[in-house]
Amino acid sequence: MSDSRSVIVVGGGVVGAATAHYLQQRGARVTILEKQTFGAACSHGNCGFVCPSHVLPLSKPDAISSTMKALFRPNSPFSIKPRLDIKLWMWLMNFARHCNERDMIAGGHALQALLLSSMEEYERLVREEIVRCEWQKKGLLYVYRDKQRLDAYEPTNQLLTETFNEPAVKYTSDELAELEPALKPGLAGAWLYEHDAHLRSDRLMESWKERLLSEGATLREGCEVQEIVSRDGRAVSVNTSQGEMTADQIVVATGALTPFLERFLGCKIPIQPGKGYSMTMPRPQICPHVPMIFPECRVAVTPMESGYRLGSIMEFAGYDDSIKPQRLQLLRDGAAAFLKDPYCDPVEEEWYGWRPMTYDSLPIIDRSPTLENVWIAAGHNMIGLSMSTGTGKLIAEMMSGETPHIDPKPFRVTRF
Ligand SMILES: Cc1cc2nc3c(=O)[nH]c(=O)nc-3n(C[C@H](O)[C@H](O)[C@H](O)COP(=O)(O)OP(=O)(O)OC[C@H]3O[C@@H](n4cnc5c(N)ncnc54)[C@H](O)[C@@H]3O)c2cc1C
Repeated sequence: MSDSRSVIVVGGGVVGAATAHYLQQRGARVTILEKQTFGAACSHGNCGFVCPSHVLPLSKPDAISSTMKALFRPNSPFSIKPRLDIKLWMWLMNFARHCNERDMIAGGHALQALLLSSMEEYERLVREEIVRCEWQKKGLLYVYRDKQRLDAYEPTNQLLTETFNEPAVKYTSDELAELEPALKPGLAGAWLYEHDAHLRSDRLMESWKERLLSEGATLREGCEVQEIVSRDGRAVSVNTSQGEMTADQIVVATGALTPFLERFLGCKIPIQPGKGYSMTMPRPQICPHVPMIFPECRVAVTPMESGYRLGSIMEFAGYDDSIKPQRLQLLRDGAAAFLKDPYCDPVEEEWYGWRPMTYDSLPIIDRSPTLENVWIAAGHNMIGLSMSTGTGKLIAEMMSGETPHIDPKPFRVTRF
């Protein structure tokens, strides 16, 4: 990509930020158009896990039965708001179609390539001080109260070990108490993914912004892209809430809102918003030092250098932007069941984010099938932070005509 190439990146989330970074590295002049403020959407208050261990797609063979059970359980962290929404029902049907061993393994390999590439890139970005984000590599613990459920994870661990070379270390109740004294005594045990890392997502976004601007990027906030204007198979401009803008190439990195641009992209974008919540507060007195997930109630705990976050919940409720107190209570209750000192007042932020959910759990990283200078980087599901740097690198390579460092075929938009 020569110095003269100009690129508009639509969307200032973690995927847009990473894309802008790798394009800048290749000499592109980058303008980021963000309808709100940079880094304020789903990339802001997430749990901050950079977790190559999350290789398995959500669409596992047993996902339908466990989803149905969760739907009808009171106080479940998973819910679907009943409504007549054809796109949602199509999405759910397609999700069910992918709940089989073959798709799970194939999807897992595709995700793993992106996750490992992203981890390598994060480590470099942190080492070279390109981003500052309270990076810590202490692993990720899956903690259980119930011994049967702890042991029931064994086949998944075996699959991850044998097929993906991603083994976890099993901790007995006593070993766990020694590893993490912040946990209550008497828990059944845990699985530890030693190679996972975590960071503070809002700090990461502040740091990306500073870096991109210092390297010459232009950022327009409060600037919504409303239309991509095209002629003869090329985008010629974008119409925005701040007027018309032009560039040689355009990348659409608009997360869960990407379906609103579908009609300009010439393809289906089956992304549903999967709403999650988090609460950020000061570190409690007895603060865990390893980040953890409690799979039995699906609450995640992130001990950060400068704070502490509880997060979870998956609501398919459309683009609902309310924060429901009973959902936040689930986070508190979940943490209280496992931790000696589960939270700390005052809560500094109560937050929600719309995860960009595709039905096969894979992101879209591809060129528009109808516009040769328009690219899409969206649909990163529950692990968009963990896959962002690999995505940015991959799309920058594809746009520059370089040989991609990982196989982009599984992420093609024409698979839908
Ligand atoms: C509770 C919770 C916990 C999570 N924990 C983790 C975790 O631990 N690890 C992990 O890897 N992932 C996690 N995730 C998922 C992760 O946050 C997302 O996958 C990721 O942030 C998606 O990034 P994005 O850049 O695609 O989207 P976003 O961050 O949503 O960014 C998209 C941006 O595009 C802008 N935009 C949209 N439309 C337009 C338009 N027309 N014009 C201009 N701008 C536009 C939006 O305003 C937004 O700022 C979590 C999510 C939630 C909700």
